[in-house]
Amino acid sequence: MKRIYLPVGIFVLGMALFSCSQKATDKNTENMEIVSEIGDIKVDRFADVQVLRYEIKDFDKLTLNQKKLVYYLSQAGLAGRDINYDQNNPYNIRIRKALEAIFENYKGERTGDDWNNFEVYAKQVWFSNGIHHHYGMDKFNPKFSKDYFQSLLKAVNHTLDAATLEVMFNPEIAKSRKIKDPKQDIIVASANGFYGDGITLKMVEDFYANVKSPDPKRPLEIGLNSTLILNNGKVQEDVWKSGGKYGKAIEQVIFWLKKATTVAENAQQKAALEKLIEYYQTGDLKTWDDYNILWAQSTKGDIDWINGFIEVYGDALGMRANFESIVQITDFEASKQMKALAENAQWFEDNSTIMDEHKKKKVKGVSYKVVQAASESGDASPSTPIGVNLPNNNWIREEYGSKSVSLGNIIEAYDKAGGKGMIDEFGYSKEEKERAQKHAYLGGKLHTALHEVIGHASGVINPGVGQPSESLKQYASTLEEARADLVGLYYIYDQKMIDLGLIPSFEVAKAEYDGYIRNGMMTQLQRLELGQQLTEEHMQNRQLVASWAYEKGQKDKVIEKIVKDGKTYFVVNDYLKLRDLFGQLLREIQRIKSEGDFKAGQALVDNYGVKVDRALHQEVLTRVKPLNIAPYSGFVNPTLVPITDKNGEIIDVKVSYDMNFVEQMLHYGKNYSFLEK
Ligand SMILES: [Zn+2]
Repeated sequence: MKRIYLPVGIFVLGMALFSCSQKATDKNTENMEIVSEIGDIKVDRFADVQVLRYEIKDFDKLTLNQKKLVYYLSQAGLAGRDINYDQNNPYNIRIRKALEAIFENYKGERTGDDWNNFEVYAKQVWFSNGIHHHYGMDKFNPKFSKDYFQSLLKAVNHTLDAATLEVMFNPEIAKSRKIKDPKQDIIVASANGFYGDGITLKMVEDFYANVKSPDPKRPLEIGLNSTLILNNGKVQEDVWKSGGKYGKAIEQVIFWLKKATTVAENAQQKAALEKLIEYYQTGDLKTWDDYNILWAQSTKGDIDWINGFIEVYGDALGMRANFESIVQITDFEASKQMKALAENAQWFEDNSTIMDEHKKKKVKGVSYKVVQAASESGDASPSTPIGVNLPNNNWIREEYGSKSVSLGNIIEAYDKAGGKGMIDEFGYSKEEKERAQKHAYLGGKLHTALHEVIGHASGVINPGVGQPSESLKQYASTLEEARADLVGLYYIYDQKMIDLGLIPSFEVAKAEYDGYIRNGMMTQLQRLELGQQLTEEHMQNRQLVASWAYEKGQKDKVIEKIVKDGKTYFVVNDYLKLRDLFGQLLREIQRIKSEGDFKAGQALVDNYGVKVDRALHQEVLTRVKPLNIAPYSGFVNPTLVPITDKNGEIIDVKVSYDMNFVEQMLHYGKNYSFLEK
């Protein structure tokens, strides 16, 4: 469930469009120019982070009311931004405000080691919504002295109390946002703001031992939206709601949500928004469930949103949730692609290379949704997921369904920023590199669509054979991913793709084949440490497919291993023969699944999908290193600017891409800071 992230340090692959296994996945696209119509995709680079820019496509296709809805929802998200800072650590807002005051007003020298270190620290705090690393959760220890920092504060007439300075500069205090080490009291040791002073793990356990959901079959997300505090020696929840804790920010969120209800696209959306407002007003968790039911069923509009206290990764006990907001617009182009594929699902099934007895008589494409992020805030920004699957409460998912989306424009931005260096290094010929530049993005996107919509939907299991999780056990998901990948690889090189208007020429398919082989044989190894074997299912499947095809085509040199100037390349010589090999492997893996042939499945995965060639792995790591790929990425948001008439009525909303990272952070600090500290 929940969120899908791009793997750390990867620049890859368009494929991140993957939603099937709810895992961060990558693939083979290392392509594209960095500069696009919206200017440089790469906005900033510091420490272990790079900041990118994403583009909202087709915003102009929205009606005025839809534009207003996007704008209001984005404001509702930004209004809650401070909450997330405080949840991460109660000193964060105070520290951030000091950093912002210096950035805004300091007139002295802005050069030299001290200033540079200060600047990196400030950017890290903004990027992580606080003084702890957004991913590792360890505290940033400033590389400048307290004296230097105090001289900056003095110069801008800003003061910071001794306790806050101590939290900033004493490495022994607030070491980590979340401690999971069972040898410590994980509540006392964790530096997040979810539990008040004096609260211990024992107190939390005792308190919740007595809190039960009224309906045990439909459990509430207990503890989700409060800080647990000691009040005159008594443990109690300080609930995040209008008039309660974080009330000042929540009231702003409500203000904008109310405006959003006036331009909702349909009654279902409006009902969901009204229920969300009621929840923020009351803090009642039953209302939160009622809201999620309405939201999960609200699937008709072009605009959607995530707004609330949702993910619990930041709490050592996994109860309390950080505030986040993502505003989404349907990706019209991707939706059209999905629709074209889904409508032809039976054709794909009938024409597949799998045995007739394994074909579905009546196949229905899997529905899969790509959206565009229009604005992100709180825990979803600047570091963002690439896909989201909500709501989290399991009984609601079972009874009312869930919504799973890929954030297409975020993935595209990753793709554009990521790949140029990789393709230059690992692509062999000029032709291959140019093809990747031109076509790999579309190839990756279409392959993913085929994988999801057609691949996972295809095939039947023989009567009497159990589910793959029973018959193929630990090999089931690797084989399933391989099967779906192969459906995509086989069909992307089919005339049907051209007939459906999905690709302009087979150059797209060739780019996808080049990239898939490069990745499966080599480049994905950048994610492993030397000596590791492949364990993650998507990585196993890609190596399996690529190395099986390499071996089977070796005598015809379908794929050729070339070593030039000490560098290894895998080059596709015969695309049609490779397509035929993909078709053969698809037939075999479908047979394994349909018949539940554990032995054959095990042999395929173990022989082709697990072992890593150590020398080649070392070579990949050595070649990737100088490319200086940032382990983590995040994004600035486009700025939504309402255009008003003389009465203050919004007559249009414009999208602007002109802010850099620091400008946007200062802008947010100035305009969306609603919590006193
Ligand atoms: Zn899949």
